[in-house]
Amino acid sequence: MGGIPYLKDGLLNLFKKPITSRFPEVPVEAPEDYRGKIVFHPELCIGCGLCMRVCSPASITKDVKAVEGGQEITMTFDMASCTFCSMCRDFCNKKAIEFTKEYNMVVENKEDLVISGTFIKKLPPKPLATAKPVVENTKEK
Ligand code: SF4
Ligand code: SF4
Repeated sequence: MGGIPYLKDGLLNLFKKPITSRFPEVPVEAPEDYRGKIVFHPELCIGCGLCMRVCSPASITKDVKAVEGGQEITMTFDMASCTFCSMCRDFCNKKAIEFTKEYNMVVENKEDLVISGTFIKKLPPKPLATAKPVVENTKEK
């Protein structure tokens, strides 16, 4: 037996249960706080762009279009380049970015790993016109 390395271990393993899971036939639940597929909530976003600034691989982009009374803002997340570091979520004060437990992200088209959301950001109201202060001329003519 000594001349055939691992033969004993190999034979013993034939009678043991496999230590791997039968994915995808038997899906495995991801643990709590797993950083899987991103969900973006445009209704909570204010378009501050902080998430973009902390994203090292530049996976987040912001598209701004002028519309009546404000701006139409589209935030896009490219999970093909994302490292799932969660910095964007951690820095978003509005809780507009969420990570799910979804880890199965095998796709045929790269575009299927892109998620985006659009919202309208209204312009702030214009300040009211105030009367100019009257400055008295104290100089004697
Ligand atoms: S997702 Fe959050 S951090 Fe990013 S622009 Fe929106 S509000 Fe700002
Ligand atoms: S998880 Fe990290 S890499 Fe992915 S979009 Fe957010 S900041 Fe960028």
